[in-house]
Amino acid sequence: MASYFDEHNCEPLGIDEQPDHLLHLARLLLDSGLGAEFQLEFERIFGDVGGREQPRASKSVIENLRSTNEFNRDEKCSICLKEFEKDSTKELPCYHKFCENCIKQWLQLVNTCPMCRIELPTDDQDYEEYKKQKRRTKERKLDLDDLHNSMFS
Ligand SMILES: [Zn+2]
Ligand SMILES: [Zn+2]
Repeated sequence: MASYFDEHNCEPLGIDEQPDHLLHLARLLLDSGLGAEFQLEFERIFGDVGGREQPRASKSVIENLRSTNEFNRDEKCSICLKEFEKDSTKELPCYHKFCENCIKQWLQLVNTCPMCRIELPTDDQDYEEYKKQKRRTKERKLDLDDLHNSMFS
């Protein structure tokens, strides 16, 4: 069985993290403006991202965010906690919605959804390569698990 640390080393962005931390961070970010502190805070909460900086989302992703007016009257942006306004609400591929301003600022710092942390494409070739390798390592690990299970079950 994989140890706690094995699992956490492979997956610095573990799915068991509370998204609340990220939202707290998002608010902090918007309160204090953009700054180097953000990266430090991000690392403090989530651990470093394989020894590299979490890249921002790609420019084209930020520019081409999907607009939506499909929200309930009392639905709020989880970053600023204000109600959505018509024609200034954006939706990520995971269907989480945010005010245009909030999510644009957010994605200029990191490439993950503040709610569920799915990753969006970046302009950072190195990081894209790193992600591919990480995925391959994970697949190999799954293969090994299968092999292990088929041998011992
Ligand atoms: Zn907002
Ligand atoms: Zn999301």
